[in-house]
Amino acid sequence: MADFGDDDVKPLFSKTHTLGLKLLALALLSLTLMFVDQRANNLQLLRSALLGEDSAARDVRVFMDRLEHDDYKNAPELNSVHCPECGAPLTHDEVWLKRGNTGYYTRSECPYCGHWYVRFKLSRRDGLHWSFARCTEPATREADARWEKHRAAFVERLRRKKEREQA
Ligand SMILES: [Zn+2]
Repeated sequence: MADFGDDDVKPLFSKTHTLGLKLLALALLSLTLMFVDQRANNLQLLRSALLGEDSAARDVRVFMDRLEHDDYKNAPELNSVHCPECGAPLTHDEVWLKRGNTGYYTRSECPYCGHWYVRFKLSRRDGLHWSFARCTEPATREADARWEKHRAAFVERLRRKKEREQA
């Protein structure tokens, strides 16, 4: 009768064991690579959703995986923007307007260089975390005309809503 002592079983076990560990490590590595790849892909998608054909955008930044939708206007690390020209802090208008389904923008002022538009694009790919892409664009006459028109409409809607609430 064959008698398998410890010496016979151990090498067999440890070979299988090593193979298992290698496979596990390989699986983990590909998962990590997939995750990194997906993250880079999401980042790229968000950037292009923000910029589109726009070549005037400056100071493009991405903030990934945050919990609050309103971070673009409340969190200083997203909301504090410096002038792309001279580096002075910009002062935002108190109104943020919607742009498209998942974008917001405001008009901001540099004390030295004049006006800029700060734009955000939001994305929530995993259903839980918000990612934001941000850029700063020089104000143009067309952009200012559009801003004035939409801002006036927004303020008027807000005024009517308040009136209804008080009635
Ligand atoms: Zn400036």
